[in-house]
Amino acid sequence: MRGESMAGQLIKEWTAIQQFPSATQEKLLELLGQLKNKNVNTLTILVMGKGGVGKSSTVNSVIGERAVTVSAFQSETPRPVMVSRSRAGFTLNIIDTPGLVEGGYVSDQVLETIKSFLGRFLLNRTVDVLLYVDRLDAYRVDNLDKQVVKAITDSFGKEIWHKTMVVLTHAQLSPPDALSYEEFFSKRSESLLKCIRQGAGIGRKDIQKYAISVALVENSGRCTKNENDEKVLPSGTAWIPSLVNTITDVALNGKPGILVDKKLIEGPNANDRGKIYIPLILAFQYFFVIKPIQKWIKQDIIRESSPAWD
Ligand code: GDP
Ligand code: MG
Repeated sequence: MRGESMAGQLIKEWTAIQQFPSATQEKLLELLGQLKNKNVNTLTILVMGKGGVGKSSTVNSVIGERAVTVSAFQSETPRPVMVSRSRAGFTLNIIDTPGLVEGGYVSDQVLETIKSFLGRFLLNRTVDVLLYVDRLDAYRVDNLDKQVVKAITDSFGKEIWHKTMVVLTHAQLSPPDALSYEEFFSKRSESLLKCIRQGAGIGRKDIQKYAISVALVENSGRCTKNENDEKVLPSGTAWIPSLVNTITDVALNGKPGILVDKKLIEGPNANDRGKIYIPLILAFQYFFVIKPIQKWIKQDIIRESSPAWD
């Protein structure tokens, strides 16, 4: 079965799901069933983060095929790409995007590109889940991370964090400094979540309201597998079904998805910016420009009307 999306591009049948080991397939189909039971028959996932963190690899892992370009070197995704797959009346859209950091700064241009892409392909529809991707094997968060979060918040609104989950790639690692894997994972995710709360302006009392889940991912072909041939984390968890499970939870968490409307694409009051100053400017012109000119003309007329030989 083939379908057409609103934008007119072909939605392929999700055949690659059959590439997964049968244990994974069963779990994925069960999750799609859960969504359909809740009358959710489309899931649109936006993937964002810095460059080189594993966004494109994660998209490919979830779809089960090489749908988007992966590169060991920066910026091989110059534009956002949407991968759409359908399965038994259910459509999965995943939007892969370029890294949000360029030359050491957050790129507002990349954010604009993402927004105009959404406007073109998803107008009046929703983004149901944001995957905020970073690496597990990073040992610090810095101000740039906070700036990335702030830029996302400024572009999409604070509410986007209600529909966000953090994805940490490179999850098959040996922690440094005699830390256990669990300790390392909880330290890394806590510091990243704290950074997100700071960047998004989520206060202490709203931590529960904006509870953000963290999922682990290992995209490498060398990822350990279990007896069912599923890729597993050091904990033994098969991570693909686990990731899709968390995505499902976020999609069904009762908070509205991010509506792609004109306001989102053009920014809040893009056309109104500065409009409040118009009356002030008019008043200023009246009292300081028009009035003096009138006065000056009047004086001139008076002067003119008196005889030149006076
Ligand atoms: P993007 O720029 O965020 O889209 O990152 P890519 O998906 O293109 O990945 C950048 C590089 O990291 C590529 O060489 C990938 O093969 C590698 N990579 C991505 N995810 C993982 C992972 O989970 N584990 C390992 N070992 N390598 C990864
Ligand atoms: Mg990429």
